[in-house]
Amino acid sequence: MDCPVCTANAEQIATAIDGMGIICPTCGEYDVSSSVLAAEDWQRLDPDDRCDVLDDAKRSGEPRWAACRPRASRL
Ligand SMILES: [Zn+2]
Repeated sequence: MDCPVCTANAEQIATAIDGMGIICPTCGEYDVSSSVLAAEDWQRLDPDDRCDVLDDAKRSGEPRWAACRPRASRL
């Protein structure tokens, strides 16, 4: 599937939240809630801006946008 942030080819994984878990080669591994994906604010953003939003969410733990769930690298 396409990464909802940067549209790169990403893998969707199971998540405990109401939304999607994503493993993206560019953005890393994160969860994003379905309410974020449905928000007009989000859909209006450019991929660059979405990356900023994701970075901010990871730093602040802001659950409205995304929840970062660090995992051990598989590489
Ligand atoms: Zn991505």
